[in-house]
Amino acid sequence: MGGILSIIEAKNKEIKNSSLEVLSESQKIANTKDLENNVVILGEYEENNSNQINEFGINKVLLGATNKIENYSPDLYKNIILNLIEKFEPEIIIFSGSAIGKDISPRIAANMNYNLVTECIEIKVEENGYEIKRPIYAGKIIQTLKFNNNPIVLSLKSNYFSINKVEQKDFSFEQVNNEEIGNIISPVLKEIIQPQKETLDVSEASIIVAGGRGIKEPENFKLIEELADVLNAAVGASRAVVDAGWRPHSEQVGQTGKIVSPNLYIAIGISGAIQHQVGMINSKCIVAINKDKNAPIFKFADYGIVGDLFEIIPELISELKK
Ligand SMILES: Cc1cc2nc3c(=O)[nH]c(=O)nc-3n(C[C@H](O)[C@H](O)[C@H](O)COP(=O)(O)OP(=O)(O)OC[C@H]3O[C@@H](n4cnc5c(N)ncnc54)[C@H](O)[C@@H]3O)c2cc1C
Repeated sequence: MGGILSIIEAKNKEIKNSSLEVLSESQKIANTKDLENNVVILGEYEENNSNQINEFGINKVLLGATNKIENYSPDLYKNIILNLIEKFEPEIIIFSGSAIGKDISPRIAANMNYNLVTECIEIKVEENGYEIKRPIYAGKIIQTLKFNNNPIVLSLKSNYFSINKVEQKDFSFEQVNNEEIGNIISPVLKEIIQPQKETLDVSEASIIVAGGRGIKEPENFKLIEELADVLNAAVGASRAVVDAGWRPHSEQVGQTGKIVSPNLYIAIGISGAIQHQVGMINSKCIVAINKDKNAPIFKFADYGIVGDLFEIIPELISELKK
């Protein structure tokens, strides 16, 4: 028993940012406790692309866990990971806070009868185990949990951890054999319907232009889209406009949407309710545009523009285009 099993994901053969956060944290734990860190890559990945992950102190990368799977199947992924847990007997299994991480981590914990901690924001190695912090009550309280050395399953809060690399290190690749998993007849995802237009994902983007109810009409969102286009940014939205059916839920930022931490977050016609704030407060620079000078968003924005968005945004776009 011992070691770390880090479960990470590749999309279009690139490791996702949320997974680099996992590698960064698992490297720290492995280093402090002198543990082996074995990494499972879910999704398509090529060995010759290893320069993306060779600075995280990894020992072994298990490839092919999902080679034969075109689409996500919770039970199949779960069984593959359970097999690897039996083989490596890790004391800590770390997932990212991605949709897949959130979906599989509880299945693994329940199957193994291990403790599960979701939305972790700090993992401290203690003499006899781990001390882990996670936000509760929409981030108003930070819960501290202590574990002894019994195995635990963790999922990290996305976009919370910085990505710290260490010295470059060679690691071995091992092909995972899934033959013994057999046929899974439980639910299988048949199709992923991509948005009509190729859009940037708010949780991965370095600039986000987000719109709220101040936009007034769904058609007016084209202003937000145009500004986002000029800045090569992702479009974000408050829950008010998502609930109204103006924007898809995938764009929602906040407690019941996505947690983001871009370099620049431009909030337009968004009041800055606590539930929105918890989703974007970690942005490096927050710019707010609101006609109400008392809007709560100005309390935590780095730059504020008080005024009518319908006058400000077209001017911003034309200046940026220049
Ligand atoms: C359990 C729970 C979970 C929630 N989860 C989320 C979440 O994940 N994300 C989220 O966003 N919300 C969430 N909410 C909702 C949240 O409380 C707010 O209701 C919501 O964020 C408000 O959205 P808004 O800022 O777009 O709208 P409003 O609060 O109506 O604000 C609109 C703003 O636009 C400004 N404005 C109007 N016209 C103009 C103009 N012409 N120019 C410039 N500014 C203008 C107004 O001054 C105002 O400040 C949640 C609520 C609950 C109870």
